[in-house]
Amino acid sequence: MNTHLAELGISSELIAARGLRVCEEATSLEVAEVGMDGREHLLVASASKAWRSLKAAALVDGIDLFIVSAFRSFDRQAEIIRQKIEAGVAVENILTVCAPPGFSEHHTGRAIDLSTPGCRTLEVEFDQTTAYGWLDKHAAEFGYYLSYPIGNSWGYQYEPWHWCLQDAQPCNAPDLHENPRSSVI
Ligand SMILES: [Zn+2]
Repeated sequence: MNTHLAELGISSELIAARGLRVCEEATSLEVAEVGMDGREHLLVASASKAWRSLKAAALVDGIDLFIVSAFRSFDRQAEIIRQKIEAGVAVENILTVCAPPGFSEHHTGRAIDLSTPGCRTLEVEFDQTTAYGWLDKHAAEFGYYLSYPIGNSWGYQYEPWHWCLQDAQPCNAPDLHENPRSSVI
């Protein structure tokens, strides 16, 4: 992880200034969903089970949710950032939308990026969909919480699509006093 950070020019000062916490890479994963493109989305067993329950409950209410992205390794995270650097984007800007390798909740196998048919993926417009409205109301019943609301303390841009299972040992679980989940507006 440190090798990745050094190679990408991400300093420990920057990590400390943002208050980012290390997210361990999951070792035991299962296929939670297979995308329309055939891509397998991996999660740890508890997150996978909770996701299937959430998805089924949403479907009962006529809401169609699907996974865009789930588990991601340190190496894959580094590769994503490397590609952006090579495209000419400044590291500080990249890190407002992308966690440094070793600090993404996606490493834990507990985070999912979600979308719904008819919505562009990984865009803020997702929060205008009925699917988002459903998640806002019901995701917590399944242990899933929005990790990066507007004005989150880690300096990430608002990610209405990114939800993380918080049933135990949360990685970037909000400290309620400093980052109330209710800050989503
Ligand atoms: Zn995400």
